[in-house]
Amino acid sequence: MSDKPLIPVYLDLVPCHGCGACAEVAPDLFGMDQSVERPFLKADEGPENEVRQAIAYCPNDCITTDEE
Ligand code: SF4
Repeated sequence: MSDKPLIPVYLDLVPCHGCGACAEVAPDLFGMDQSVERPFLKADEGPENEVRQAIAYCPNDCITTDEE
């Protein structure tokens, strides 16, 4: 993950419907558990651009970070 700034990433599965967009746009941060069709976090923080892209692509606002 080189020297890019890292920010926290949180995943709330309650509103998640398993579309898989997070794992497609940020495969280093999210995997998909195909047995339950829900994503899981691979890390508790990631490069800011990847975290923000995953947040932007999630249709159900399941993904968050710490906001200042
Ligand atoms: S993008 Fe959001 S709704 Fe879709 S699988 Fe990921 S967390 Fe769930």
